[in-house]
Amino acid sequence: MMVYDIIIIGAGTAGISAYKEAIKHTNNILIINQGPWDTTCARVGCMPSKLLISSANQLHDAKTLDKVGIQSSIYIDTSKVMQRVRKYRDQFTASVMKDVNSWEKSHKINGKACFIDATTIEVNGKQYTSKSFIIAVGSTPRENKVWEDDLGDLLLTSDTIFELSSLPKSIAIIGSGAIATELAQALYNLDVKVHIFTRSKHIAIATSPKIQMLIQDELSQKLNVFFETTPTLKKINNQISINYLDNSNKEQKLCVDYVLNATGRTSLLKTLQLNNIDPNFHKIENLPIAKDTKQLANLPFFVIGDAYTNTPVQHEASHEGKVAVKNCLSYPDITAKKNYPPLSIVFSSPEIAIVGQSYQQLKEAKQEFTVGFASYANQGRATVLGKNIGGIEIYIDNETHKFLGSEIYVTQGEHLAHLLAWSLAENITLEQLLSRPFYHPTLEEGLRTALRDAMYQLHEE
Ligand SMILES: Cc1cc2nc3c(=O)[nH]c(=O)nc-3n(C[C@H](O)[C@H](O)[C@H](O)COP(=O)(O)OP(=O)(O)OC[C@H]3O[C@@H](n4cnc5c(N)ncnc54)[C@H](O)[C@@H]3O)c2cc1C
Repeated sequence: MMVYDIIIIGAGTAGISAYKEAIKHTNNILIINQGPWDTTCARVGCMPSKLLISSANQLHDAKTLDKVGIQSSIYIDTSKVMQRVRKYRDQFTASVMKDVNSWEKSHKINGKACFIDATTIEVNGKQYTSKSFIIAVGSTPRENKVWEDDLGDLLLTSDTIFELSSLPKSIAIIGSGAIATELAQALYNLDVKVHIFTRSKHIAIATSPKIQMLIQDELSQKLNVFFETTPTLKKINNQISINYLDNSNKEQKLCVDYVLNATGRTSLLKTLQLNNIDPNFHKIENLPIAKDTKQLANLPFFVIGDAYTNTPVQHEASHEGKVAVKNCLSYPDITAKKNYPPLSIVFSSPEIAIVGQSYQQLKEAKQEFTVGFASYANQGRATVLGKNIGGIEIYIDNETHKFLGSEIYVTQGEHLAHLLAWSLAENITLEQLLSRPFYHPTLEEGLRTALRDAMYQLHEE
């Protein structure tokens, strides 16, 4: 019987990265994928969303040119915007497929894998055995069968929204996480009337009360956000009627063209019948997966990417793919994945980012830390750009003065976040950060203000 060295299940970012690493070491591998092989990131995730956001941001800048003393008149045809989204999305997916198509045919199987036992999987009625498995099955938008049945095509998810031929006049977004926030702001900037309904009191990823408040203050000027509100949805003619209770518990109603279900994503681990490996693996939430190595129990199994994570980001999925291969080949000698400094970005405008440990994580860990803050409401460079909104917090360990993390809501925050992630990797202190040159006039000068604020407080104590 043929026994593979590694079977990879799922050919998204994580699985593809694993295959590309594995092929350097062995030819005795198999990669199995159900559905398209061009990755969530390129097809319905990072790339089409950033394309839509780019058009939205540029339109917003054009519409607010008067801020920098320019009068203009603008015409927008959203069918052109959507055509551009799909044109470049197709280029990104084609580039992934070029890679995948160059792989040895006998290494690839189209189909849904599920486990028969701890060494065998079944795909399309055939069984395959391996010494080790990399499970990279990703996640899918959370389903709501009732809404699907009632609303039909008027219910969108991040899987379907980029297929719209043009943008609607109005939309209700259910959920207020990272994906919901990015799409809500992009649609608003593209002249769609946006209503957000969320069960929580939060927008996007920021955990710091101050940064969260800055985000809410800014976004609620533009988006119609209903916090802690669960609406009921009904299709009437070709629209959706939404009923909800307002702050004073009075019933209210509004009508929209579409609803976007952005209530989160669920892992596709449930498709694998992991209970055939061990009956205790019945519940996905209780799977014994090591946080640092991604190993499942003590088996030669590694669960990577969005399938099992609190930080569903492309760079982690890709990195975990490489590490999992090393661990499969050296099993039972397992090494922890090299921990990149965590970095999450929401591409709203301004961008929201968390570097390293969040405010909430530090609080939960009962860490003694100082928060340095700088507002960007009057920050020099941000004012010059006409984007003087938001602020930055940086977190410093009270004893060692080590830089621990940061929450950011600043224009071009992705670059500040990147810089800070690199600094975190160097295990840097507040004093070392402040000794670096800060050039003038830059957005980074606001970071220096936050660092000085932390220094001032630490010296006060
Ligand atoms: C709208 C949106 C925007 C995003 N924006 C960003 C961003 O800006 N930056 C960022 O870093 N990340 C972003 N992400 C997240 C990023 O896309 C994911 O972290 C990444 O794609 C996860 O890759 P993966 O390999 O784990 O999963 P996927 O790419 O989803 O791959 C999993 C594969 O496994 C297959 N599969 C599932 N079950 C089985 C089975 N039983 N048998 C065989 N095959 C199976 C699936 O069909 C799929 O092909 C975004 C995601 C979305 C949805």
